[in-house]
Amino acid sequence: MAEKFATVQSATGLAEGRKMLEFRKSLPAYKEKDAILTAISQNQVVIISGETGCGKTTQIPQFILESEIESVQGAGCSIICTQPRRISAMSVSERVASERGEQLGECVGYKVRLEGIRGRDTRLLFCTTGILLRRMLVDRNLRGITHVIVDEIHERGMNEDFLLIVLKDLLPHRPELRLILMSATLDAELFSSYFGGAPILRIPGFTYPVQTHFLENILEMTGYKLTLHNQIDDYGQEKVWRTSKQAPGKRKSQIASSVEEALRAADFKEYSPQTRESLSCWNPDCIGFNLIEYLLCNICENERPGAVLVFMTGWDDICSLKDKLLSHPILGDPSQVLLLTCHGSMASSEQRLIFDEPNDGARKIVLATNIAETSITINDVVFVLDCGKAKETSYDALNNTPCLLPSWISKVSAQQRRGRAGRVQPGECYHLYPRCVYEAFAEYQLPEILRTPLQSLCLQIKSLKLGSISEFLSRALQSPELLAVQNAIDYLKIIGALDKNENLTVLGQYLTMLPLEPKLGKMLILGAIFNCLDPILTVVCGLSVRDPFLTPMDKRDLAEAAKSQFSRDYSDHLALVRAYEGWKDAEIDFAGYDYCWKNFLSIQSMKAIDTLRNEFFSLLKDAGLVDSNTATCNAWSHEEHLIRAIICYGLYPGLSSVVHNEKSFSLKTMEDGQVLLYSNSVNARESKIPYPWLVFNEKIKVNAVFLRDSTAISDSVLLLFGGSISKGDIDGHLKMLGGYLEFFMEPDIAETYQSLRRELDELIQT
Ligand code: ADP
Ligand code: MG
Repeated sequence: MAEKFATVQSATGLAEGRKMLEFRKSLPAYKEKDAILTAISQNQVVIISGETGCGKTTQIPQFILESEIESVQGAGCSIICTQPRRISAMSVSERVASERGEQLGECVGYKVRLEGIRGRDTRLLFCTTGILLRRMLVDRNLRGITHVIVDEIHERGMNEDFLLIVLKDLLPHRPELRLILMSATLDAELFSSYFGGAPILRIPGFTYPVQTHFLENILEMTGYKLTLHNQIDDYGQEKVWRTSKQAPGKRKSQIASSVEEALRAADFKEYSPQTRESLSCWNPDCIGFNLIEYLLCNICENERPGAVLVFMTGWDDICSLKDKLLSHPILGDPSQVLLLTCHGSMASSEQRLIFDEPNDGARKIVLATNIAETSITINDVVFVLDCGKAKETSYDALNNTPCLLPSWISKVSAQQRRGRAGRVQPGECYHLYPRCVYEAFAEYQLPEILRTPLQSLCLQIKSLKLGSISEFLSRALQSPELLAVQNAIDYLKIIGALDKNENLTVLGQYLTMLPLEPKLGKMLILGAIFNCLDPILTVVCGLSVRDPFLTPMDKRDLAEAAKSQFSRDYSDHLALVRAYEGWKDAEIDFAGYDYCWKNFLSIQSMKAIDTLRNEFFSLLKDAGLVDSNTATCNAWSHEEHLIRAIICYGLYPGLSSVVHNEKSFSLKTMEDGQVLLYSNSVNARESKIPYPWLVFNEKIKVNAVFLRDSTAISDSVLLLFGGSISKGDIDGHLKMLGGYLEFFMEPDIAETYQSLRRELDELIQT
């Protein structure tokens, strides 16, 4: 086969092809090729684990493809390999095609939401897990597919766990179908026993030793000592962290004081696994920036050659850190440093740069999210900086509150991050937290299905006609709590996506066609129906990207004032629409960048909104909800009351009442009682809100419950647009709303409600 590979190369590409083949052969997976193929031919399910970078994703699908093509009946094979992220599906397919000396769309293709390249001869398709699930919507038996490879199962994403249940059900009906599960090192036994003792193949890996530094060691390099002190206070003895200068008499460095401040802010004592929760108050990024700059500079000036990989919490920190580093004399000098970023939403052209070699003498520094932990391997990394946190969605089932918070990573993740440094030669890893914090990390991260809301998943189960939601989910690898399942079902009933027998309503069916959170899908649908599409598209896209309104720590007041200029009529969502429209106008005069800069807006978010708007518009077209005539779709787009009503339609039951008192107002929700507004909400700057209700996009529990992005609405809007407005269930809907209103026992509201209800009843009867 190796020789055959060479023959597909054109004459000019021959040398390239040889080199590539040599590279492929050097990967640990290559040595296991025969064992892997044999296992697959003898078992319906095979689990393959191996160190990141050993060649699972790029090689194993190719082994299968090559052996199938070689075999007599081979032409019929059709392999699907799923990836948890779009960016990996795209980049891996491109890589595999180029390893084979082909164009993308010949033998190898990809498909992600709204995008894809494949041809008639495509036999190996890389796609997101979501795409495969959607395919199963129309083709339950995956007819024609010979192999399904589910990659990165160790991440335990919701879609992957869901897919495994569906595939497990399918296997007996398709005995010739092969299922291959691949992952970085993990507890493969869990998967094996789920699939009735499927064989596990381990690809032996090799990494060079990595020297590990924790915060205390790093500080020592700066001349400070981080120590745990016994402090006697009123409550007895307590342990506290302190930094001290070893050479006395010098002023405290910026680094030492910011570390101390961060430790103090977090009430940073000695930690045991039992006190893990309190670790969440420590924000490593506030110490991180100075420390990271110091370390990077030190590496550039004093260390041997080799790329640096910096693990940051999320995209926003990456941006801020990049800005900071760009103004540094060494780190910001492109002749000395090639500064790159790596995260899930980057364009694939941008991603390719990560694999490039830097110019002579320059050092490559990549600022990455946890995407670089296992799914993307940067070959020449020798130094790793690890901030210890990752943004993770979690879900508090008891309070039915989703949270997107930076959380501490698991021990396994920290080891993965460290391992990135030892791929090509001995490396160094700097963990920006003390060793005792590491000791308190959980062993593994909780699977997503156990920590996030299940609404979209429930809709999917229904649209795939998989029977009772709770029965289905009880068959998962690890089943979610009953309470979380019930909350999701209740929510879907309240918003009118499921009827009282848990069947999909018409609205529910439309929602499954839109790969969006149900609330955003609802808004889009109504925006389309009411010919009010433009502003609603902006709102929905704005809620799907990183908050476009920036609030830098040190310029919070200015930023909030800038946002309030866009405020119209007590709505963050309308402020967003206005900010976006202003940016579009500015773009016409090529002044978009200045506009964003002046108004504390993120240009990346604006651009992302722009792209998403087009994507969502095509989704609506595909679902048959709009035609191409944008003028018709926007006949009512300037009607602010309508926009507000549609926002309410989407966000309900995200509802809080506005309780006025003499000078200001307070907010209450049914589940949480008193809640607060995020300080960057335009409504937080108001002393009075002349509306009785706020609908909100998201509530997040930190120390109190905070509402993010809210829009004020009137009684009548709530009554008409809150919940489902499907004709069949107006009565049930009114009862529920009535319950909500009466809960707050505001006599005048109850009265308004009664009179509106009477009007509505009359309306229905006529
Ligand atoms: P695994 O899935 O086991 O983590 P991969 O198959 O993704 O490993 O990668 C195998 C090797 O191929 C790695 O050394 C990686 O650096 C290299 N590689 C993968 N994609 C690219 C690419 N787009 N450009 C250059 N090298 C790549
Ligand atoms: Mg991989």
